[in-house]
Amino acid sequence: MPFLSETLSRVRPSSTVAVTQKAMELRAAGRNVIGLGAGEPDFDTPDNVKAAAIAAIEAGKTKYTAVDGIPELKQAICAKFQRDNGLHYAPAQVSVSTGGKQVLYNALMATLNPDDEVIIPAPYWVSYPDMVRLGGGTPVIVTARQENGFRITPEDLEAAITPRTKWFIFNSPANPTGAGYGRDDVKRLTDVLLRHPHVWVMSDDMYEHLTFGGFEFCTPAEVEPALYDRTLTVNGVSKAYAMTGWRIGYAAGPEHLIAAMRKLQSQSTTNPCSISQYAAIEALNGPQDFLSERCTVFRKRRDLVVRELNAAKGVTCETPEGAFYVYPCISGCIGKTSAGGTRIDDDEAFATALLEEEGVAVVFGAAFGLSPHFRVSYATSDAQLTEACARIRKFCSGLHAS
Ligand code: GLU
Repeated sequence: MPFLSETLSRVRPSSTVAVTQKAMELRAAGRNVIGLGAGEPDFDTPDNVKAAAIAAIEAGKTKYTAVDGIPELKQAICAKFQRDNGLHYAPAQVSVSTGGKQVLYNALMATLNPDDEVIIPAPYWVSYPDMVRLGGGTPVIVTARQENGFRITPEDLEAAITPRTKWFIFNSPANPTGAGYGRDDVKRLTDVLLRHPHVWVMSDDMYEHLTFGGFEFCTPAEVEPALYDRTLTVNGVSKAYAMTGWRIGYAAGPEHLIAAMRKLQSQSTTNPCSISQYAAIEALNGPQDFLSERCTVFRKRRDLVVRELNAAKGVTCETPEGAFYVYPCISGCIGKTSAGGTRIDDDEAFATALLEEEGVAVVFGAAFGLSPHFRVSYATSDAQLTEACARIRKFCSGLHAS
């Protein structure tokens, strides 16, 4: 009998986490590596948030808390949903976990039964399909084509729905493409969902505050109120407030779903970190004006990276609406051989050789379900981005026919 669980054999380790880890190890070993792998802002956590955490420690807020979040944080989350999204939720409809990742995980584990299907647009964040598999469900991948701005169409969604569909996972602005769905795009998708009352929506809004050039964020439960009773609206403080390490994610949805997620959490992590919860209250209730200032910085970086990558031989890069990722296509590089002698058969070989030969860490497209591409996280300084793009251009110019 095998020691490890059979379920685990159906999933892969997270590629985003693996690349980040690998870049850290190479740096620790003295290599000059520029990390464009990790999806985390390089900004520091705001001072008022840090101060709230220190005050919480000093006030002895260091014990177990309510399983799915302290009442003050749930209040702050309800106020955030009202303020930013025009969505009314009561505290009993809110769940707080150790990062958006645990929120999604809890929701899937609490609801999936064998043979349940979950519709996931590709390119997708690496963890969605594997979490579905861990829950015994089946990911149904719907490919969003680059020609369509990496957005799926209502026809694509309609065609993927079966009587076994439990969830549709929606993510805008998206990881790894940065693609955003405007209000009309969202409405067209919610219109499809209205015709299929058994399908629930999991909207991962983690990049809500990272949008550029007049793109306006919207979320399904707000666009189509008739879906409110079957939507889980997921968000967190990691990306907007530069708080990835604090691990606070949250969601709001129907009370019976929230109760099921709470039951699961009570048997795993008990509660999210008490200190981080107090910090998150300050993040959500404190000043919000720096969010737009940071967006301006990110937009400039996006423009820099898109321009520089389009100048690389064999690479084409779209300009996305949000997040801090771009997802260039490298079809012009496949089948060639690098200056260091590696044959670039696929995007994984491209990313591996780029790291080995030029010291730039990116995540290969196959991990996100659409090849041949790679993901760049441009949440790093202009100087680092300029240098990284120069290295990528050098790497691509060195590619030659075998
Ligand atoms: N969501 C981020 C990323 O895509 C963080 C790492 C992870 O959990 O995947 O890089």
